[in-house]
Amino acid sequence: MLLLSYATVRGWITYAPLLQGEHRLELVNADFWYWSLVYFSLPHIVIVLGFCDLLMTSLRRREAEVRYLSERDPLTGLLNRRSLHRVMQEMYQSPKPDSQCLGLMILDLDHFKRINDTHGHKVGDLALCHVAQVIKATARQGDLICRLGGEEFAVICPGTTLPQAQALAQHLLAAMRALRIPHVASPVAPHVTVSIGFAVASTDCPDAEALVTAADGALYEAKRGGRDRAHGAGVAAT
Ligand code: GH3
Ligand code: MG
Ligand code: MG
Repeated sequence: MLLLSYATVRGWITYAPLLQGEHRLELVNADFWYWSLVYFSLPHIVIVLGFCDLLMTSLRRREAEVRYLSERDPLTGLLNRRSLHRVMQEMYQSPKPDSQCLGLMILDLDHFKRINDTHGHKVGDLALCHVAQVIKATARQGDLICRLGGEEFAVICPGTTLPQAQALAQHLLAAMRALRIPHVASPVAPHVTVSIGFAVASTDCPDAEALVTAADGALYEAKRGGRDRAHGAGVAAT
């Protein structure tokens, strides 16, 4: 390009030879220039747009992956603690007209350390996955399940009254007692029990944290009461 430009400036070669000479007018009037422009620029435009599309697709995929990783617990695939707080804040900020109550259940596996100590950490992990499956299968449609960390799980129950939360807690206790952790090279398949603390608040109660604190307190009572049981309370609006 530089050489050609230099040669043109020096007058060694003709500038725009197609526009010179006897066919000049004929060429200018023809559609030649229009179509040659289309012919030469279209492939470039298509290639550039193709690259942009590839880039955007890969960025969108990356973003979806990052969002999934930031919202989910890697072992069980359930929502993580950060998501629990986000979801609860959202439910408080824009409650659905038909769900005036919000229930929160915190589940903590009983003496889980013993499972790890007796059968090893891998079996402990397997047990956590099975527990997550059991909670998923027992919870109702619309309930949101989180792993808070370690051997603690939470179920957010929109539109749930105190008696309904009590009934769900009893179902969860029974399902957990029936669970046997399969594929374990031990003569007796290990089983787990769980303690549950639950709290129910009306969505006009302005503080989502109050619900978490109440469910936590109820869990402490369930542990203190001997484990493998549920304890619950209503949270009054302040
Ligand atoms: P409690 O009935 O009082 O809740 O007793 P606990 O043994 O369940 O509670 P503690 O807090 O003493 O121990 C929790 C154990 O959970 C400790 C740790 O070994 C185990 N744990 C936490 N996270 C994981 C995990 O991701 N995988 C496995 N395998 N074990 C975990
Ligand atoms: Mg715990
Ligand atoms: Mg525990």
